[in-house]
Amino acid sequence: QAKLAGKNCLRFFQSTMDHQAVKDARLEAELRGAWERGEISVNYQPILDVANRRLVGAEALLRWVHPRLGVVEPSAFVAIAERCGVIEELGREVLVAACCEAKLWLQDNPKLFVAVNVSPVQLRKSNFCDQVAEALGSSGLPPSALHLEITETAVLGEEAQAAVLVTRLRELGVQIWLDDFGTGFSGLTQLRQVPIDGVKIDRSFVAELPAAGDDLALTGAIISLAHSLGLGVVAEGVETEAQFDWLRERGCDQAQGFWLGRPLNGEEFSARFLGEQPSISWGRSSA
Ligand code: C2E
Ligand code: MG
Ligand code: MG
Ligand code: MG
Repeated sequence: QAKLAGKNCLRFFQSTMDHQAVKDARLEAELRGAWERGEISVNYQPILDVANRRLVGAEALLRWVHPRLGVVEPSAFVAIAERCGVIEELGREVLVAACCEAKLWLQDNPKLFVAVNVSPVQLRKSNFCDQVAEALGSSGLPPSALHLEITETAVLGEEAQAAVLVTRLRELGVQIWLDDFGTGFSGLTQLRQVPIDGVKIDRSFVAELPAAGDDLALTGAIISLAHSLGLGVVAEGVETEAQFDWLRERGCDQAQGFWLGRPLNGEEFSARFLGEQPSISWGRSSA
């Protein structure tokens, strides 16, 4: 009896796995050419200076509006794109699109930056640095207005190679930020040899604020340690005023999150945040 149940269970497990594999294979096929078909675009989420709540920049985030499935989250397709190599092409397109978009913003606000996520797969390509230089060249965006976000996991264990690449990228004039930071706290001292500009605190830490607990102490410690190393700090996933206030009291430099603004397409972003009378109303997650 138990053996039979186990067998059925296994069969069920296998068929769900197959099902997922089939779905992934289908998504993978549909992912190819999705950018050319105009299904994938780039959204921009505002990043604010915590001290004065002014806009300082925005993070470019992929958005796939699938003809059959509707909006497909990056969490559901970036990993697939990385596995099948599509991320290289996609990553280059995002880089160029974000640089061109940000170039427009600078007419209104010459101090803004655009932050672009870089996959570990892209980082490992020997021509990545050239790609960045090309995107800057073709868009006319000043290098200082481009921040590249690399993940902690892409760097950990490969600090020496990462240090060489990050140094080359910074010589172009772009900034390098460590995304999803905090999941490996020991990382910050370990990563000292990689000359980054700052860290983005993972939103799983921010989500726990300001309730008492380990995350409270940890997030405060990350901010202090980052500052003592001369690094900037962005908090991700700020969803409440209480979280924002807590971060301000701890001296966090910049913040990003639904409470401050959701990702918007380029047109919406410009309409809301740029121009003569940007209609900024903090605390309402409109749009
Ligand atoms: P990420 O780089 O950490 O981006 C932040 C994610 O947090 C975004 O999710 C954003 O919409 C979400 N977020 C921002 N504020 C809040 C908040 O207050 N609450 C909550 N719950 N979420 C918030 P998104 O757009 O789904 O992207 C997920 C991840 O996909 C990104 O995480 C990034 O790792 C990856 N990704 C997105 N675009 C690209 C890209 O162009 N290239 C690469 N390689 N990866 C990308
Ligand atoms: Mg998104
Ligand atoms: Mg990011
Ligand atoms: Mg992140």
